[in-house]
Parts: sequence; C-alpha cells; structure tokens
Amino acid sequence: MVSFEYYNPVRLQFGPGRFDRLGKSVQADENHALLVTGRSAARKYGYLDRAVTMLQQAGAQVTVFDRVPPNPTDVVVDEGGQLARDRGCDLVVGLGGGSTMDAAKAIAVSATHDAPIREFLVADEQGNKRPPTDKTLPIVCVTTTAGTASEITPFAVITTSDLRQKSAIAHDRCYARMGICDPELTYHVPPDITAATGVDVLCHAVEGYVSTKAGALTDHAAEQAIALVGRYLPRLVTDGSNREARHYMSLANIFAGIPLSNCGANIMHALEHPVSAHYPQVAHGAGLASLLVAYGRTCWETMPEKFAKISGLLGGPQEASRAGDVFAELLDSVGLNIGLANLGVPEEMLERLADDALRYMGGAVSSTPGSPDRDCLLRVLRASH
Ligand code: NAD
Repeated sequence: MVSFEYYNPVRLQFGPGRFDRLGKSVQADENHALLVTGRSAARKYGYLDRAVTMLQQAGAQVTVFDRVPPNPTDVVVDEGGQLARDRGCDLVVGLGGGSTMDAAKAIAVSATHDAPIREFLVADEQGNKRPPTDKTLPIVCVTTTAGTASEITPFAVITTSDLRQKSAIAHDRCYARMGICDPELTYHVPPDITAATGVDVLCHAVEGYVSTKAGALTDHAAEQAIALVGRYLPRLVTDGSNREARHYMSLANIFAGIPLSNCGANIMHALEHPVSAHYPQVAHGAGLASLLVAYGRTCWETMPEKFAKISGLLGGPQEASRAGDVFAELLDSVGLNIGLANLGVPEEMLERLADDALRYMGGAVSSTPGSPDRDCLLRVLRASH
C-alpha cells in the first residue's frame, strides 16, 4: 500500500500543434501581456510573431521583452519588471527555454512587488526568503526546449549577479496558469543544446527518483522519463530531424517535471547551480553532464535498488554499481562525457562550489539519500574534474 501528496495546478497543453492554443490562456479581463523571450531563437523561427498574433486575437495588447540571456540574472528580471509596470501589463507570457520561462516567472513577481527580485532569491540571516504574494501577475509558459519542465514546475531559477548565486524562487505563485509543451517548437534546437537539455531531463528524473521525497506517482513518471531518454536522446542528437524522437524527448521532459516539481532536485542540481553561477557561459545541462558519472559512481550505494533500476532503464545491466558506467556510455553517445575542467572550472574552485551548494542549495542537498556532507560533495566534484 502506498500514500502520497501530489499537487500541480498548471493546465498543461502537450503535443504537436498545442502552441496554437496560446490565445486560450488569456482571460476576458486581461488587457496587456508582457511577452518575455530570448534574444534570437523565438524570433528567428517565427514563434514570436505567432505568439504576438495569438495574444492579440485573444484581445490583449502585447509588449515584447526580448532580452533574456541563458542563465538569466536579477538585473534582467528587474528590467523586465519595470517594463511591465510602466506598460501596465496584467499577464506575463514566457516563450523560450528554461532561462526565458524562469525570467518570465520572476518578472511576474518583480512587476508587482515594491522590492528588487533578489529579496525573493537570497535568504536573510534567519534563512528566510521573501515570499511572492497573490499580487504576482498570472504567468503562462511556452517551452521551446525539451529540458527544464519549467512550464509545470513552481521554480524560477535566477542568478543574483553580484553574489554569483543561482537560486530559485520556489513557490506556488511561480506555477504557470497554463504551460504549453509543443514538440514542434523544438524542431530547430541544435545538437549541442538538444544534448544538454536532454541530460537535464535525465537528471530531473534520476534525482527525483532517488529523492527522500519520492513516492509512487513520481517514481512511475521518473521511470518513464529515464527510459525515454535512454531510447531517444542518442538518436535525436545524431539526427535532429527525427520527429518521433523530438516528440518523445518533449514527453520525457514532462514526465521528469513531475518528480522535479514534487520532490525537488538533489546534489546534482545543488552542485551545478554554483557552477553556472560562477561560469554563466556554461549551459545548465552541460554542467550537470560533467557531474553525472561521478555522481553515479559515488552515490549508487545510498539507494542500490533504484540505481540498479536506472541502469536497466537506460539499457545497461540492472546493477547499481554499473550506473556510473551506464551514464558515461549515454553521455559518450551525445558528446557530453566531459569534466568540470572542460567547462573552464579550475581545481581551486571546487571547495568554493561545495560551500556554495551547502550555503544556498541546502534543501536539495538534504533531500539526497545518505545526507551527503561537505566531504561527499567534494568527492563528487573532484571525481568530476
Ligand atoms: P536556455 O533557456 O538557457 O536556452 C539555451 C539556448 O537555446 C539559448 O541560446 C536559446 O536561445 C536556445 N534555444 C531555446 N529554444 C530554442 C529553439 N527552439 N531552437 C533553437 N534554439 C533554441 O536552456 P534551457 O536548458 O531550456 O534552460 C536552462 C535554464 O533553466 C537554467 O537557468 C536552469 O537553471 C533553469 N532550470 C529551471 C528549472 C525550473 O524548474 N524552473 C528546471 C531546470 C533548469
């Protein structure tokens, strides 16, 4: 017998063509949408024009904010929040990868609270972050990558620039009203981003699966996601025009978002956030890839049954001690069997990364089985270098 709590208020539109339903996300009393996007991809592939047209046809005026970079910062969020205030926006739509969707969520907070967004991201001396209130603008998220599942999670991950701290607003107010995951929007994602975002999917599933907060529903979704990544990610990186593989990686993204939303991440994400905070040129998924093999080799004993299952789901032997090797094979097949040194992280930074993970990613560390201490984090980091 099992028991668990599950909550997710996002109206999810999944499948080819579901982008066309964007207009349905606008409510009758809403007049002005801030459409948040990145600097180029959404415009280049025509998604931005389509989104503007659909929102206008639904009766909303649209202001475009197209300045979100990968690994977005508090500075760009506050800039977007100011624009939303100046224009009187009453809805925020994020159109892009995780960076854009997270910036959109944080802008929805920034626009309606009289404080810099860092107050919601950085804990005070008592360990508390300011919580977003019900003044937060409604949020709609459209993903153009198969990776973060931000369209269904309650997280907005933003780097506070001067502290080099990449932390999350984790709050029910950061759930989108509607999330759209349309595999057709991922057709032009280049191989390196396909690989990195696919590794992010795998890590959400693996971390949620072995989390101390895991339950029957999240386990089932995690297993589906892991199997889909093992089956489709290598062939998609080899051939980006494989629409079946695009479809199933988008589905894996959603399945992995279920454990991520409900169990959070664990030490993989706890260690990666300091990496891409200090080295913002590092793609989040590439940072995770650099840690994954060492994580498997260091941590499999904490939950041998589940690591054995993971290894089997990825097509390897159902043996926990082989999980690290199976991760290495998968990463080899997508060109991401790399170490932290390949990402430009010098060895003398490793202690700082471990300290940062403990300082502001403590929740993710503590939901890791075996309650890893600083020595354990450093073992994973050193083996990843
Ligand atoms: P991203 O949003 O940073 O985008 C990476 C690159 O891909 C960008 O250059 C972008 O322009 C390009 N791109 C996006 N869509 C494209 C498309 N359809 N075609 C061509 N190019 C495209 O990458 P991401 O991995 O989706 O997001 C990473 C961010 O999300 C990180 O900051 C990470 O910490 C965060 N994240 C958030 C959550 C959450 O629950 N909120 C979960 C995991 C990760």
